[in-house]
Amino acid sequence: MAASKGYRPDLLAPYLALPQGEKVQAEYVWIDGDYELRSKTTTVDKKVTDISQLRQWDFDGSSTDQAHGHDSDVYLRPAAIFKDPFRGGDNILVMAETYNNDGTPNKTNHRAACKKTMDQAKDEHPWFGLEQEYTLMGLDGRPYGWPEGGFPGPQGPYYCGAGAGKVFARDLIEAHYRACLYAGVNISGINAEVMPSQWEFQVGPCEGISMGDHLWMARYLLVRIAEQWGVKVSFHPKPLPGDWNGAGCHTNFSTEAMRTEKGGLDAIKAAVEKLSKRHNEHIAVYGEDNELRLTGRHETGHISQFSSGVANRGASIRIPRHVAHKGYGYLEDRRPASNIDPYRVTGIVVETCCLL
Ligand code: ADP
Ligand code: MN
Ligand code: MN
Ligand code: MN
Ligand code: MN
Repeated sequence: MAASKGYRPDLLAPYLALPQGEKVQAEYVWIDGDYELRSKTTTVDKKVTDISQLRQWDFDGSSTDQAHGHDSDVYLRPAAIFKDPFRGGDNILVMAETYNNDGTPNKTNHRAACKKTMDQAKDEHPWFGLEQEYTLMGLDGRPYGWPEGGFPGPQGPYYCGAGAGKVFARDLIEAHYRACLYAGVNISGINAEVMPSQWEFQVGPCEGISMGDHLWMARYLLVRIAEQWGVKVSFHPKPLPGDWNGAGCHTNFSTEAMRTEKGGLDAIKAAVEKLSKRHNEHIAVYGEDNELRLTGRHETGHISQFSSGVANRGASIRIPRHVAHKGYGYLEDRRPASNIDPYRVTGIVVETCCLL
């Protein structure tokens, strides 16, 4: 496996072990103009115990497709703090929101609107669990570990697979899982997917705005760790044409009423009914190129048609069998693509199910 050019953990290790005094490093992470993640570091005088101790910062938005050169400063406002698994100690990662010079949210800052929606619906205690699927790619742009000039055997043995020839880059995936746990990302599981070199991690349940914060930080950790392995991460919903599964971001959702033993299933059905009336509005924010994935095949519902059902993996909304059996729990919206902005998706789900 070709490690990232120039990455030498053996040379770096003694420096990372040096004492750093009172000072800590804060890595500000933000979403750029093309929904890629960027980050830069600032030194803070002492250990951070509250987000209010972090300063508003700025960056050159003309270099990230977020501003014009003549008015290029974009502001970074700290939104959520995680522990930094790369530097360790009291060093932190900071999920930051982006704001323009005039105080309006930057074009890719959907957290601002999502936060307002979540604040309005907070009494319903909306919970989310997102299943992030993604595909590992070599630096040549082909799925990682696939035979040179050819294809692996057809789908079948790879989903949750174990054993040589069935599993690709398990070491990278293990590193990511543990890094998430260390960072304080609410990761709830991982599995190998149907297409070889495709994986999934789940984050949740997370309440309200924290869902987007945790998913974006989990993605950041994945991209940073894959960088060390010399592997690229694709969040494209159909990374390979043909008989290979696409990649989604199933969105599991519940309110307190839906989680309540008495009347839970009725509340879930009421939410499904509301969702059925706003299919197009949802699809509009459920990811770019999602029509390549939502074909009605490969365990998806068709993009042009809303559908729902118990235990139906070919539907837009699935009520898990165990939920229907118990009579309360959550629903699964299977439409969102792997490249969604979770702030937009969780925002519209709460708007539709709780505020309309
Ligand atoms: P699937 O069977 O569709 O593959 P997963 O096990 O991958 O499901 O993911 C289920 C997700 O649902 C997890 O992220 C979990 O945290 C989340 N979840 C569990 N209970 C709830 C709930 N009450 N509300 C919202 N999300 C939930
Ligand atoms: Mn400079
Ligand atoms: Mn899953
Ligand atoms: Mn999956
Ligand atoms: Mn699912």
